[in-house]
Order: sequence, then C-alpha cells, then structure tokens
Amino acid sequence: MTQHAPGTRRISRTVQSWDRKMSANENPFPPLPGVLDSATAAAATLNRYPDPACRHLTEDLAAFLGVPADHIATGIGSVGVTHQLLQALAGPGTETLFAWRSFEAYPQLAEMVGSTSVPVPLTCGAVHDLTAMLDAVTDRTRVIFVCNPNNPTGTVVRRAELERFIDRCPPEALIVLDEAYHEFVRDEEVPDGLDLYRDRPNVCVLRTFSKAYGLAGVRVGYAVAHPPVAAALRANALPFGVTRFAQDAAIASLRRTEEMRERVGALVDERSRVYTALLHQGWPVPPSQANFFWLPTGEHTDAFAEACEREGILVRPFSGEGVRVSVSTAQANDVFLQVAQEVLKSLPQLGV
Ligand code: PMP
Repeated sequence: MTQHAPGTRRISRTVQSWDRKMSANENPFPPLPGVLDSATAAAATLNRYPDPACRHLTEDLAAFLGVPADHIATGIGSVGVTHQLLQALAGPGTETLFAWRSFEAYPQLAEMVGSTSVPVPLTCGAVHDLTAMLDAVTDRTRVIFVCNPNNPTGTVVRRAELERFIDRCPPEALIVLDEAYHEFVRDEEVPDGLDLYRDRPNVCVLRTFSKAYGLAGVRVGYAVAHPPVAAALRANALPFGVTRFAQDAAIASLRRTEEMRERVGALVDERSRVYTALLHQGWPVPPSQANFFWLPTGEHTDAFAEACEREGILVRPFSGEGVRVSVSTAQANDVFLQVAQEVLKSLPQLGV
C-alpha cells in the first residue's frame, strides 16, 4: 500500500503526465508551428553529417540579435557551450567562480576540465551576493558565472549592481552571463546581457533554445561574445555536435518568435498566479523571473518531493535545502498547489 505524508490525500489524475514533470524547467508547450515540419524534412538527410559550423543558424541568430556573426558560438545546448568555454579558458591551476546554489553544471563542468570551483553563498534572499563574489576573485579566477535569473531560485541581479560588479572584475576573468531564462524576465531593471557585452570584451552571454523556444530535446544553445572569446568557443566545439535536426529546428523557431513570446507570456501569467497562491498559502517563496519557483523546504525536502510524487508530480529536490518546481500547465500547477497546501498544513513550520 502506498504511504501518504500526514495530511496529504489523493488528487484525481486528469492531468497529462508530461505536464506533471515539473522538475526540469521545460516548456509545457510543444515545438513552435513549422518546427516539426523542418525536423521531419531534416530526417530525410540522416545519412549526411550536419554543417559543423552551423552557418545558417549563426547567420539567422546574428540577424535576430543584431550582432556580427563572428560574435556567435553554437553548441550542444548552452550546457555544451559552457563546456566549450571552460575547456577554452579554465583548467588545472585556475578557479571558476559562481554563486551557490546555482546551476549544477558549473561545478560539474569545472571539475571536468580540472578547474577549482569557488562557490559563493547566495544572500539570505537567495540572490547573488556580488560583493562577496568580488571578494572571492583571485589572480587565478578565469571564469565567473552570473546566472540571471538564477537557477534554482529564480532571483535576479539588476543592471546597476551588475554593471558595478563587472566593471570591478579583473579583465583577465571572463564574466559569463547565463541567460537561459532571459525571455521570461519581466523586471525592467534586469539588464539584457547583450547590452552589457557590447562595450566589454570580458563579458559573454549564454542563451538556449531549450526553455522559451521549447527545444530542450534537440540540444542547441549559443554564446555571444567578442571575437577572440567566440573563436575560442568555436574551436572547442565537438565537431558535428549540433545535429541537423537541432540546427533546422532552431532556425524554424527563430521565424516564429511572435508565437514564442505569446507562449512565454502565458507562462509568465501562470507564474504570477502560482506565486500569488503560494504566498497566500504561507510559503516563503522568493519572487521568480524564470519559469520555476524555489520552495525552501530544508530538512523536509525529500518528504515534500515524495508527497508530490505520490500525486504524480515530479519536482526537483535539493536534499536538505529546497525544491525547485517548474511552471507547467494550469491544471498541473493546480495539482501542485494542492499538494503544497496540504504539506504546509501538515508541516506548518515550513511557512512564514
Ligand atoms: N543554464 C541554466 C541556468 C540552466 O538552467 C540550463 C538548463 N537547465 C542551462 C543553462 C542549459 O540548458 P541547455 O543545455 O538545455 O541549453
């Protein structure tokens, strides 16, 4: 017999099972119109290698972003580009600096290239502590990640503080603005990294097609940086890593940015609704500018994730710290909200 956490009860399962996977910050919408046609056409060329330089995608990105094509480097998801970046710039004897908790790939990839991770705790408001990060910079620091909005907390750093931080960092360190969730940002004080990189050769912006464009499964992301950095990233790419499927799907997606923005708008509306409901329930949730929330469940994290799982909802637990839950369809979000409310009733010490 299934064990139930105190206070939880069964909730009818009428929601699509994929929508209940709220653990990976995926987009619940299917690929944009026209994308499946491109992918199907690409399937007819499976006997051929893809273009290793991603030429058409790079040209389309350059036109879309208003940057020169030689400022762009593509990769196998932005996590692939992050690997290229660390491969190019970090290594034994160097330090890779990032806030913590932040995207798990930073320490993993730093370790893969032999660079020492320097995690700097977030503030009590779960925001990057840029002052402490600046204090942690040494003459061995080569790469500094600023995840904006931050995964898994959804919190942001704003223009003035970020500019001040960047301008105080040594020019030998590359500041990587990881903007995987850029399209979900509505706070006008949050800068567009592209405005910051233009006059600053030691700033690099990372973006992805996995989130707002809903292409997590095909694996394509990119960096925008000044030519020496972008060239080093391209030189460290795995040859033929970005498949033709991925290149064509990304090109087709860039032709449907209006629909992308509408869908992101709907998810942002849903984010507001879920946020308000969580606050109303009494959860101390930091405001999120991304497509997920952070619930500081502390020592009850595993129990919370298990309570969600019993209702078929998958969240991402960080044992002993909290859970990250992605914004999904309204129906799936409702099921999650119901579980969250019932867990909070049984464990009121979690609330505010
Ligand atoms: N950066 C951040 C902050 C992320 O959360 C993710 C995905 N979870 C990525 C980069 C990587 O995205 P992808 O490799 O799918 O492009």
